[in-house]
Amino acid sequence: MNSIKENLLKITQSVPQEVTLVAVSKTKPISDLMIAYNAGQRIFGENKIQEMAEKWEAMPKDISWHMIGHVQTNKVKYMASFVSLVHAVDSLKLLKEINKQAKKHNRTINCLLQIKIASEESKFGLNEQEAKTILTSEEVKELTNVHIQGLMGMATFTDNKQQIKNEFAKIAKLFEELKPKHPQLTTLSIGMSGDYEIAIDSGSTMVRIGSSIFGVRNYS
Ligand SMILES: *Cc1c(COP(=O)(O)O)cnc(C)c1O
Repeated sequence: MNSIKENLLKITQSVPQEVTLVAVSKTKPISDLMIAYNAGQRIFGENKIQEMAEKWEAMPKDISWHMIGHVQTNKVKYMASFVSLVHAVDSLKLLKEINKQAKKHNRTINCLLQIKIASEESKFGLNEQEAKTILTSEEVKELTNVHIQGLMGMATFTDNKQQIKNEFAKIAKLFEELKPKHPQLTTLSIGMSGDYEIAIDSGSTMVRIGSSIFGVRNYS
């Protein structure tokens, strides 16, 4: 039985066509990713740059690679030649480094600003004001090799659906508020295996789903 393929099919059918599915393949072997690839999946999400780079090298070149994890500035260079979307940009400093590395490869790298919506202390991200400051700053306008195309958020890991709903509503509201002034914002990346249905109801345009496709991970 090929459960990855079946899982992927099930998820693909339950996600509306206009919502982009990122198959989160972190920690999983290339053979597992290839099952998803052969079933038609072309967008994969990883949270470690080195692991993503190794998979990129080994796999077909028509895959879009999304960096969904926290990014250290000194590692941007290892993904700058191929990454298609960086989900968790949480500082101007990181944005500048992505711009610098993208320029070296003569390309533009798409980015999302990570907004802190969870109540947990450990989660990275910007608050609303910090996001607005970045979007309107003169410095950012000069970063010609990055394209900020939306927002990303992670809800608290909880069984409390109402809390998840409230947290997604917060980022969806900010997204709608920012869009008229910043029409380049088209992507709202919210929703994982445990909460993607709530996320889609809340206005998600991109879901990041791992364990429901590839099975549980032994480590994160
Ligand atoms: C691991 C991870 C996911 C996917 O989590 P699942 O619960 O396995 O679907 C989504 N987003 C981020 C940022 C992650 O690190």
